[in-house]
Amino acid sequence: MPIRRNVIGMLPAPGLKCPECVAAGITSTVRTISMAAERIEYEQGADPTNPDEDREWVRGWELLYDAQGAYHIHDPIEYVFEYSCDNDPPHYFSEIRQNPCPQGDYP
Ligand SMILES: [Zn+2]
Ligand SMILES: [Zn+2]
Repeated sequence: MPIRRNVIGMLPAPGLKCPECVAAGITSTVRTISMAAERIEYEQGADPTNPDEDREWVRGWELLYDAQGAYHIHDPIEYVFEYSCDNDPPHYFSEIRQNPCPQGDYP
């Protein structure tokens, strides 16, 4: 079943360090300077309880409980993060992340 977008948003990253500072053997604070959701495919009117309603849904978005009762979040949205560290001068880098399923089978 498709789920309406923006239900959960981006979950926190488990950990992140500036790769250039790590390579240089120094420590730094890393700040997120922007976040954007990209590469989203929408489908119209996909609400199974009201197929005539004109809505947008994220294609492939699922919350489900499997046969063992375990909870799955399958979020196809790719989030682009841009960072800077507090080195002088600062380093800039970016990454693309998806929310990981708690059961480890997605993405
Ligand atoms: Zn750095
Ligand atoms: Zn899963």
